[in-house]
Amino acid sequence: MSTALTLAEQGSSVVVLEAGEIGDAASGRNGGQVIAGLRHFPEELVETYGRDRGRRLYEFGARTADDAFALIARHRLDCEAAQEGWINVTDAPSGLDMVRRRVAAWRAHGAPARELSRAELRELIGTDAYLGGWIDPRGGTVQPLSLVRELARAARGAGAEVFVHSRVVDIARAGRDWRVSTGAGSIVARRVLLATNALTGPLNPPLARSFLPVWSYQIATGPLPDAITPIRTGAAISDSRRVLRYFRRDRQGRVIVGGKGTSGGPKGPGSFNLQRLTLARLYPALASIEPTYYWGGQVSVTIDRLPRFFVLDDGLFATLACNGKGVAWNLALGPVLAAALSGVDPDSLPLPPARPPAPIPFHRLKRVYAAAGSTWLRLRDMIERQTPVRT
Ligand SMILES: Cc1cc2nc3c(=O)[nH]c(=O)nc-3n(C[C@H](O)[C@H](O)[C@H](O)COP(=O)(O)OP(=O)(O)OC[C@H]3O[C@@H](n4cnc5c(N)ncnc54)[C@H](O)[C@@H]3O)c2cc1C
Repeated sequence: MSTALTLAEQGSSVVVLEAGEIGDAASGRNGGQVIAGLRHFPEELVETYGRDRGRRLYEFGARTADDAFALIARHRLDCEAAQEGWINVTDAPSGLDMVRRRVAAWRAHGAPARELSRAELRELIGTDAYLGGWIDPRGGTVQPLSLVRELARAARGAGAEVFVHSRVVDIARAGRDWRVSTGAGSIVARRVLLATNALTGPLNPPLARSFLPVWSYQIATGPLPDAITPIRTGAAISDSRRVLRYFRRDRQGRVIVGGKGTSGGPKGPGSFNLQRLTLARLYPALASIEPTYYWGGQVSVTIDRLPRFFVLDDGLFATLACNGKGVAWNLALGPVLAAALSGVDPDSLPLPPARPPAPIPFHRLKRVYAAAGSTWLRLRDMIERQTPVRT
């Protein structure tokens, strides 16, 4: 939607085809945490992409949260946007070294990151569960469903045509162009971007085999009065576990807690036991509160945890795999993808194009991978903390 908005503003003729309603998938269901950058250190990106491209990618990541909030402000997107920071916390003694490395890396880059002591965390986030952490003031929060709906409104306002309930079932060559077909009709376009994320499966199976779709679930309490709410900051909060937990307080005072989902999707309130346990452990005073909302969605995850931009063919592009960090990333990526769709050489863009998608071996076992992978990662979390783990 960010790409469509940019292109429409630049005067291109743009059509968005959405299978369901706006925000039906990850963009309307996420934790609303606006986080700058990737989880990779600059030297890791340089190792993967080479010096220039690695650095360019890191530079781009560094601006994503600022770019996202700037775009929200420029278009007056009504989505409870608050650039009050992203707090990353650790409950493992070994995590404190990582906190220092992260702060040092961002500060070396000129970003105003700083460490938070256990006492500061207790004050800000109202729990003693974490040994330390750091805050990145560039981050923050949004109401995700409002954001994506508002983006669609802005894109339409700029001239893009947005069709809902228009599932694309086929994309085929039509001379130099592409014919994009839904059950009800088709559109011929010079350039096409697939932005179907974790739900890419039926439309492009080879692309879908290049990532794992992983469920993430959330619960939210009802609005809590100030006297009761333990979270004193409007920042986004997540921990540094391999199977991470994320939480925040929203504008209305709800406490929202998210984390790993069960494989295959939620089957009722029992599927959310892990999130309820997290809420109770972090905030014992809220343990008896019945959540008002339960929901989940699918995240696209790559083995190297890097997002992908594919040039599939002449004029056919795809973007996916934000690895759970797509809110800032995708808003900021819109203008980059718009450049690719306008004919700019993809090799000159900050996110190097990957061609063609490399399949994850034995991808048909994706559910087994996801389940085994998260059990293994949770075991490692447990060993580092010497705490019992519940599944
Ligand atoms: C529960 C959860 C919590 C998350 N929390 C955070 C967070 O706090 N911070 C963060 O940065 N990121 C978070 N993420 C990740 C983030 O939401 C995603 O990276 C981002 O929203 C992806 O946006 P997208 O537009 O690429 O994909 P989506 O929002 O998944 O959109 C893809 C769209 O494609 C449509 N589609 C699929 N197939 C077709 C077809 N054949 N034809 C037409 N349309 C089709 C779908 O209906 C869908 O609307 C979270 C994700 C989940 C699921």
